[in-house]
Amino acid sequence: MRPSFDSDLAGTDEFAWTNSWPATLPLLTAPGGGDRLLVVAAHPDDETLGAGGLIATAAARGRPVTVLIASDGEASHPQSLTHSPEQLARIRRREVTDALGRLHPGAELIFLGLPDSGLAAHERELAIHICGHLDGVTHVITPWSGDRHTDHAACARAAAPIAAQAGIAHWQFPIWAWHWAAPESPELPRQRMRRFPLGTGAIETKAAAINAHVSQHRPLSDVRGDEAVLSDSMLMHFRRDYEVFVVDEPTAADGAYFDALYAERPDPWGLDERFYERRKRELLLASLPRPRFRRAFEPGCATGLLTIELAQRCDEVVAWDGAPVAVEQATARLHGRSGGGLVTIQQRRIPATWPDGLFDLIVVSEVGYYCADPGQLRQRIATSLALDGVLVACHWRHQADDHPVTAADVHAAIGAGLQRTVAHEEADFLLDVWTRDGRSVAAIEGIVP
Ligand SMILES: [Zn+2]
Repeated sequence: MRPSFDSDLAGTDEFAWTNSWPATLPLLTAPGGGDRLLVVAAHPDDETLGAGGLIATAAARGRPVTVLIASDGEASHPQSLTHSPEQLARIRRREVTDALGRLHPGAELIFLGLPDSGLAAHERELAIHICGHLDGVTHVITPWSGDRHTDHAACARAAAPIAAQAGIAHWQFPIWAWHWAAPESPELPRQRMRRFPLGTGAIETKAAAINAHVSQHRPLSDVRGDEAVLSDSMLMHFRRDYEVFVVDEPTAADGAYFDALYAERPDPWGLDERFYERRKRELLLASLPRPRFRRAFEPGCATGLLTIELAQRCDEVVAWDGAPVAVEQATARLHGRSGGGLVTIQQRRIPATWPDGLFDLIVVSEVGYYCADPGQLRQRIATSLALDGVLVACHWRHQADDHPVTAADVHAAIGAGLQRTVAHEEADFLLDVWTRDGRSVAAIEGIVP
């Protein structure tokens, strides 16, 4: 761990918090119905200290919980002469297994084995792991980004854009803030803070789970360097009858994020009027190595401007978009066209879902970087690209806050195992075409052998 405050100094007394605003924060409702929690801990014990009561409550209500333990917490005693980081990692894995067994015996526990104190350098890996466990998840729970601990902040930063984009609530729990901050500290985002009340059962279970993290609240030995990390006064903050979360409610409920964009402006990216967009579409179409295709898939079809062009060159086009508003507009646009192939437009999100059957053209345009796991996208493409299939990808290269991965990442991932036949690079976007055999257009046409 590498906190930017001194955990050895006496921190804020729990008594100061007891008599202040946290006890009167607005309440959060307990998980119920179809709720499913994904808890991300930077170190073994974060899950228990920050969200143990929430996890126990979910268990009591029969709600599924997955816990990702990002690092093994092997750096908790860097000066120890008696315990190596490897030993500490083993001990702490055992302790968190024990703790979670008490909190939620049915919970799924996954160790990512990323370096303790080094999570900031592995934020993308973390994000990919989070995405890999997002199926059906309604709440992502992480340490708070403002906790003044680089590992805690990294977990929060990795989860935030994913949660926002997937329409999942993101709850962040402070740990060290209870120690270094005081009730009047301006750093605490009180407007976004909520209180989750714990029943007697949850309080007792949480206390037992805290006890399971022996290596953290008891000295490893009497030797210097083996002192307890969590003092009794620090632990008092986690014996409350409530937990506090910094809450960001979903902004993108299954396409609602994009719906909001479309609600602001019917054409949020200026696809219709911008010369930039028209030129890019023309380049993409010109780069296709054949005049005709049997069946094309265009995920992220937006308002259907490219779809209508593809329909002129394909017997069939399957066009998807995650935003209902976009699907509506695309449907309207395609409705009035004359000629062209059969077009089906549906509201679906990739790569969680994918159409059946084979395609001899897959167009991944300005959509790949919304998939935080390009590897999953690659797998989907690999299984549905026909033997003579053509994969086209086109992505914006500039920084965008809502893109968890870059254009280059997406292209490198989805092109793996295929032969690139067109590589068009300019300052604003990448345009690549791949096939399985890599034959050039001149070769296909018989101009060259
Ligand atoms: Zn931690």
